[in-house]
Amino acid sequence: MRLLRKCPVCKVYTLKDLCPACGGRTVSPHPPKFSPQDKYADYRARSIGIEDPDKGSAGEDG
Ligand SMILES: [Zn+2]
Repeated sequence: MRLLRKCPVCKVYTLKDLCPACGGRTVSPHPPKFSPQDKYADYRARSIGIEDPDKGSAGEDG
């Protein structure tokens, strides 16, 4: 999925995070969609607690 970005200074479109012309930070020309579900998703993530799946793995030497 390609996200087209735009430099607010040069008014040029690019696919990179940095403007190829001025090297400044580009922004998304489309405003982010407001989804109230995101709030709950974040709340749930904190509630249940995100654990590292790669935690506690010791090399077996047997
Ligand atoms: Zn620029």
